[in-house]
Amino acid sequence: TQKEKEEEIRRTNALEKDDLRALRKVSRQEYLKKREEKKLDELRDDIEDEQYLFEGVKLTEAEKRDLRYKKEIYELVKKRSEETDNANEYRMPDAYDQDGGVNQEKRFSVAMQRYRDTTAEEKMNPFAEQEAWEEHQIGKATLKYGSKNKKQTSDDYQFVFEDQIDFIKASVMDGDNVDYEEMEDSLEKSKAKSALEALLEERKKLPIYPYRDELLKAVDEHQVLVIVGETGSGKTTQIPQYLHEAGYTKRGMIACTQPRRVAAMSVAARVSQEMGVKLGHEVGYSIRFEDCTSEKTIVKYMTDGMLLREFLGEPDLASYSVVMVDEAHERTLSTDILFGLVKDISRFRPDLKLLISSATLDAEKFSDYFDSAPIFKIPGRRYPVEINFTKAPEADYLDAAIVTSLQIHVTQPPGDILVFLTGQEEIETAEEILKHRTRGLGTKIAELMICPIYANLPTELQAKIFEPTPEGARKVVLATNIAETSLTIDGIKYVIDPGFCKMKSYNPRTGMESLLITPISKASAMQRAGRSGRTGPGKCFRLYTAYNFHNDLDDNTVPEIQRTNLANVVLMLKSLGIHDLLHFDFMDPPPAEALLKALELLFALSALNKLGELTKVGRRMAEFPLDPMLSKMIVASEKYQCSEDIISIAAMLSVGNSIFYRPKDKQVHADNARLNFHTGNVGDHIALLKVYSSWKETNYSTQWCYENYIQVRSMKRARDIRDQLAGLLERVEIELTSNSSDVDGIKKSITSGFFPHSARLQKNGSYRTVKHPQTVHIHPSSGLAQVLPRWVVYHELVLTTKEYMRQITELKPDWLVEIAPHYYQLKD
Ligand code: ADP
Ligand code: MG
Repeated sequence: TQKEKEEEIRRTNALEKDDLRALRKVSRQEYLKKREEKKLDELRDDIEDEQYLFEGVKLTEAEKRDLRYKKEIYELVKKRSEETDNANEYRMPDAYDQDGGVNQEKRFSVAMQRYRDTTAEEKMNPFAEQEAWEEHQIGKATLKYGSKNKKQTSDDYQFVFEDQIDFIKASVMDGDNVDYEEMEDSLEKSKAKSALEALLEERKKLPIYPYRDELLKAVDEHQVLVIVGETGSGKTTQIPQYLHEAGYTKRGMIACTQPRRVAAMSVAARVSQEMGVKLGHEVGYSIRFEDCTSEKTIVKYMTDGMLLREFLGEPDLASYSVVMVDEAHERTLSTDILFGLVKDISRFRPDLKLLISSATLDAEKFSDYFDSAPIFKIPGRRYPVEINFTKAPEADYLDAAIVTSLQIHVTQPPGDILVFLTGQEEIETAEEILKHRTRGLGTKIAELMICPIYANLPTELQAKIFEPTPEGARKVVLATNIAETSLTIDGIKYVIDPGFCKMKSYNPRTGMESLLITPISKASAMQRAGRSGRTGPGKCFRLYTAYNFHNDLDDNTVPEIQRTNLANVVLMLKSLGIHDLLHFDFMDPPPAEALLKALELLFALSALNKLGELTKVGRRMAEFPLDPMLSKMIVASEKYQCSEDIISIAAMLSVGNSIFYRPKDKQVHADNARLNFHTGNVGDHIALLKVYSSWKETNYSTQWCYENYIQVRSMKRARDIRDQLAGLLERVEIELTSNSSDVDGIKKSITSGFFPHSARLQKNGSYRTVKHPQTVHIHPSSGLAQVLPRWVVYHELVLTTKEYMRQITELKPDWLVEIAPHYYQLKD
């Protein structure tokens, strides 16, 4: 009868719902278990290898693991569905295992039997059966839940993952009232048009577009203009184009500075698309060690640091008609120095237009500094954003961020997620864990695309974050602070803000600089939240409490100039002929102590004489876009006739710590490969040189890199940097000579630059820095970590669990006296 039929359907559905729950829960628990049992996995692999061989089927490692994993789940769920009696009780996989080996074996053999029974075609796709089963399950579940999309209802979340974080909705940040429906309508219509036309349509929809003419008029009437507008309103991509269209490029280039390399590259790429030209032609970018511009270039995106360097070659910036200092609110060191310099040249170059643009509303300060320059406000377009805080503080924000992402993914309506993390390492970890946790869930949850973005991410991969999310999937962007205001990613509806960023801090007393994970400011937190409300009402999940927000966060971020080593900037200003640094027109002056420290260091490096004037050494050093100590090391190599070797080392150091890699399953191999370069305890600098030279000997072979667990990409970058350093050597008339057999000569060159970074071994195995005594340790990644030489120079200090020296070379103490007698006197 009809009634019986209905009853039957109801029962089946109930059963299947349980199965699904069990399946989801198993996945999560299996994952945790697998993580603990990582070592056992290898053993099991060996045993099972035989079974597969017996079957005559060869699978890759990953396939095997997946297959086994899915089979186990399949078996568990099957078993589970047989035990309809205790339907409410879920049993851990272990419980089955406790039934004894026999049972476990049986479980496996049943699975194998099924596998044998599958057709050849199905065998081609070992998951076919499983997939079919899953489809079937979902089909049935759909009956119950209505539609496929609705399977992610909130109370199901806990069946997928156990962890859950409780949030308290605190407030709603207001949006502005604009008629969006109309905009969205026309957006739909534009879809069919050609790419370029579509881009043009898009440009017209940006909040800045209605103000185009007004803005051009204001630029025409005033030499200096402060422009304020929400992130995403079109300042960076549109204003230079408007100015170009209005003819400003006839008189010179338009420069637009960005605090971050990635932003400069990405925005230039976008604008070249919008203008329908090839990147590097009319529109280009210039970042340290990478110049993507040409004779044709009229719109140039560049890092603020690069524009600073342009002052060295062209003190009046004669080739520019417009300078736009973008992201001014970031207040990077270079931006702050640029302020002083552009303000100065604007006085004797009335034809130069100066735009200071910022995403925050405290523009009065900029206006005041630039002699009451008018402020041009681009009215924002923002939807309301719901702010949520955690109920209790989260001890591990990375884990909390991951859990929250999944929580949103499973329980919230469509819309992409943006997670703010502090750096590459953290982002990579999060990516890995997210992949693990979503793997094996198959079609149980919608697809989650994981898109990392950080400064060192290869350009090809960076583009991925801008690609539209496919229907039915969700994107989670794992970003550094770069996504706070520099990059606009469309489609973000959820923001997860752990409340931290990596920030430079500087101790002027010791002259030590370190990158620390620091709480963000309230202003930053508001910016981050705002990222979720650009295309519709958004939600921001703060992984800290409302109490933390109100009581622990500063209102604003301290400008970089007040918390950094100034040696670089002082050297640059000195070479621009600016001597009176104490009276330089700083928007916020740096601490006098930091300035003195910088002068002291430059004097020690012989870049300045006793009167504080630039020496020949200093002039040469200033040519290199490097830290003064690195520049000095290069300039000093002339004396030891090893400039070729030293620029290889400098290039390798400039790449950062991404030369070697240690795949998780091959750490021992990787470590051994790495130790090869350390034969004779030559120290880390020489080891880097050996890596570079060996690679060069193999004719820059990629295969060689694979074999030695070295990242090809980093090596290629080192080669590019090295080429440029070679060019600069020529410019300062230092001959290119190699002297790789004279290891002491090379070490002495290194010491000539880095003697302020010397340390001496203590009885307890730690080290003590020589000049400003402080306890430090050799970083475990160093080739000298087991050797513990009596005296060392280090490249940098990093603070993790301890204060570590990274990249170390042994030195002889009498070198210090020979090289820097004014700095060191030998006591014993
Ligand atoms: P603002 O500088 O005011 O923050 P932008 O000019 O950077 O705004 O961005 C305006 C719009 O341009 C963004 O909303 C985004 O849609 C688009 N956009 C910017 N950069 C890119 C890119 N690299 N790829 C795709 N779209 C981009
Ligand atoms: Mg911008």
